Amino acid sequence: MSGRTRTAVIGGGMAGCAATKELVARGHSVDVFEAGDGLGGRARSWHRPEIEPSVGINLMCASIYDLMWQRVREYGLEDQLVEISSNLLVVDNGVPASLPSDSPAAVLSYRHAPRRDRLSFVVNSMKEFVLNKKKIDLFDAEKLAAFDDGATAVDYGRRFLSRRGFDYMLRSQIEGFWNFRCEEISAAHAKALLATMGGVKFYVFANGMQVLAERDTLGARVRLGHEVTEVRQVGDRVELTWRSGGDVDSDVYDNVVVATPAPIAAKLTASLPGQWVDADTRRFLETQEYEPALSVSYLVDRGNLPSQTHLMAGGAGDPKIRNMIIYPRRTAEGRREKFLVFAYPGREITRKLLGRPAEKQFETVTPLLRTMVPDFPADPEPFQIAERPYGFPIPAPGRYRWSVRVSKSQRPPVVYAGDYFSAPTTEAALLAGTRAAARLI
Ligand SMILES: Cc1cc2nc3c(=O)[nH]c(=O)nc-3n(C[C@H](O)[C@H](O)[C@H](O)COP(=O)(O)OP(=O)(O)OC[C@H]3O[C@@H](n4cnc5c(N)ncnc54)[C@H](O)[C@@H]3O)c2cc1C
Repeated sequence: MSGRTRTAVIGGGMAGCAATKELVARGHSVDVFEAGDGLGGRARSWHRPEIEPSVGINLMCASIYDLMWQRVREYGLEDQLVEISSNLLVVDNGVPASLPSDSPAAVLSYRHAPRRDRLSFVVNSMKEFVLNKKKIDLFDAEKLAAFDDGATAVDYGRRFLSRRGFDYMLRSQIEGFWNFRCEEISAAHAKALLATMGGVKFYVFANGMQVLAERDTLGARVRLGHEVTEVRQVGDRVELTWRSGGDVDSDVYDNVVVATPAPIAAKLTASLPGQWVDADTRRFLETQEYEPALSVSYLVDRGNLPSQTHLMAGGAGDPKIRNMIIYPRRTAEGRREKFLVFAYPGREITRKLLGRPAEKQFETVTPLLRTMVPDFPADPEPFQIAERPYGFPIPAPGRYRWSVRVSKSQRPPVVYAGDYFSAPTTEAALLAGTRAAARLI
């Protein structure tokens, strides 16, 4: 056996793969254990050859993602990026109104909020941009921590918006992307959004974002379909046990990067000694809450649907359908153009439907589509379901500060990585993976 440091990475999502990239570059011999049948984790898309492009869940790459764009250039993936419209429509009782993040003029003519709120929203966004753009970063807890003063996004937004203004502007922009409640998240998240999102462009990868995870792991041994079930101390090294098919096996490593969602990470490493995983880190992992996501997609004739649109429910309640994303697709039959529609149910319905059979999920969601678009085409063709039980880690007030403390206390042989260190975005996951690896190098 070579004298190279042997490092195991548990979880082949964006965070685990980013850590792998750094470790391989520093000469570690890296084994990546991924329970699923492909890399990318939550950023992994599904593919169906009968539509073109066949990419399913369209994870967005924003123009403000630094680490991701570095990879796009390094791996020569520019031609895989497809710019998508930032056409955001907020829906109030079936009536849509445009609220794009890149145009103050459009905000001023937005129909669902009083004039005073529209003005206040534009002024405040400009103020955040001018004062804080360089100081705050939605993807980096180290920059968010200074703004994480214990207040919630609602406390923050209500300082300059009426209840209606908040519920139909800032709340829609946050909950329409992340599904968690503004009452539960740090004010810093909302502030960062206003300071950084103006003028941002969005792209999807034609063949799915997992291409980045696949490139990041070149030079490592990738073990798909390997679910790690235990992490134990053996002297000053770490033993992993895993299940693969019907087999159980184990091996010993010098280091481990645990890059699964936080509650899984807490369970896997529960037996490790306190000098490896301190009580603060353990509590941080155990207390991380997630908002689940259920993506229910349909193929429909164009009808009157707006194309390339992200529709979001306005208001403070828990709507039946939280958001809907519509993309044109060519279908195999005669290359006809249809729309692929992704519907994300609200929080209560999502929780009820997770883990249920696909027919039941379609049967429940299909009649609800008209709550968002009243003339939604009749008989949409059910297409594909994707479940994400650990969908969006909730950045509760105070967690960014906690995250910085935990991140700085990480040391060999066990470190953790995941989007829950900052925000539920792939860019934050890349940063967390990069930082965790740096603690081992
Ligand atoms: C519906 C939805 C839409 C989103 N849209 C966007 C978007 O448009 N743009 C954007 O930037 N972000 C988006 N995100 C957020 C983004 O997907 C995540 O922030 C990011 O992918 C998280 O990466 P991660 O590596 O931290 O975790 P994960 O992707 O969850 O990776 C963890 C990996 O660990 C594996 N694993 C778990 N347990 C084990 C085990 N015991 N053994 C081995 N492997 C294990 C899992 O299978 C998984 O592959 C979206 C999220 C959701 C839910």
